[in-house]
Amino acid sequence: MLPDLDEFNELLKDIWKSKWVTNNGSFHQQLEKALAAYLKVPYISLFTNGTLPLLTALQALRITGEVITTPYSFVATTHSIWWNGCRPVFVDIEESTCGIDPEKVEAAITPHTTAIMPVHCYGKPVNMDAIQAIADKYGLKVIYDAAHAFGVEVNGESVLKRGDMSTLSFHATKVYNTLEGGALVMHDEQTKKRIDYLKNFGFAGETEVVAPGINSKVDEVRAAYGLLNLKQVGAAIEKRHQVAIKYREALRNVPGIRFFEDMPGVRHNYSYFPIFVNAEEYGMTRDELYFKMREQCILGRRYFYPLISTFSTYRGLPSAAPENLPVATKIANEVICLPMHHELNQTDLDRVLNLIVR
Ligand SMILES: *Cc1c(COP(=O)(O)O)cnc(C)c1O
Repeated sequence: MLPDLDEFNELLKDIWKSKWVTNNGSFHQQLEKALAAYLKVPYISLFTNGTLPLLTALQALRITGEVITTPYSFVATTHSIWWNGCRPVFVDIEESTCGIDPEKVEAAITPHTTAIMPVHCYGKPVNMDAIQAIADKYGLKVIYDAAHAFGVEVNGESVLKRGDMSTLSFHATKVYNTLEGGALVMHDEQTKKRIDYLKNFGFAGETEVVAPGINSKVDEVRAAYGLLNLKQVGAAIEKRHQVAIKYREALRNVPGIRFFEDMPGVRHNYSYFPIFVNAEEYGMTRDELYFKMREQCILGRRYFYPLISTFSTYRGLPSAAPENLPVATKIANEVICLPMHHELNQTDLDRVLNLIVR
């Protein structure tokens, strides 16, 4: 989703006129305000991508030891734990949401556990009440990787208001993008202040550094781009919704193809349309279908395959054993995310469906 080029040009002229190109400029401030309003959260800090807010949240909360997380995500989720010198502990997922299974979280807690890092996979909210109850019982922090959950609400309230902090990604492939970009959502002014220090090398003033911070400042060009894209993201989500409705109608009676319905009370963002292929019932394996699609230049994505727990960095961890992760292992072998975007037209949709519906 790209902004109108002429409108973008007008904003670029403003930047050229002011010659203020980065370091909390006017567009940066405007975008933080506009995003907080759109997402219905009190505080948000912009970041240069969706990985640095994960790293920074763990730093800010002084997480140590072991962090419980899901193997069914983009690698950045687990990498952020590793980069903080912590040990990721993988817990299996629920088939109904593809999010971490709260019933299995408790069994993975040890005296070294300090945090839980769940992912709202495909923007489907995980069971946040159950996760928070466990966190409260054991005194753990909860950091949600909400990279997929831009604009997702449960009973009118943003999922970003839950846990200790939530992170967003504004990468070009996400529902809302600033080319590269991301954000961290927190619940009070003091925490926002600390996060803003941390993303600016730890500077708390001209001559004072209060923490070993990092550089994750967003420049004015991307902030201006982000402001323009924010104006059209609502309409884009509605168009994605229409695509999802058409996919569901056409796939509902195809044996061996499973997909998600909307969850009651949830405002979804239709960021992805995953299908799950049961090879026996469908008569073709996931990979056979995936490569058949590719032959026709229909680029589905096997999100998330392979599981993070199978990569060389992590496969030696005891929690990475496939026996510990049967649901995630099964789902990773069944999933294809179908083409999904706000400009997917009927002709392209028919091409995808003609190939899958047999
Ligand atoms: C995209 C993504 C990230 C990383 O975001 P970047 O902006 O690419 O750094 C992290 N977690 C999940 C679940 C993602 O999908």
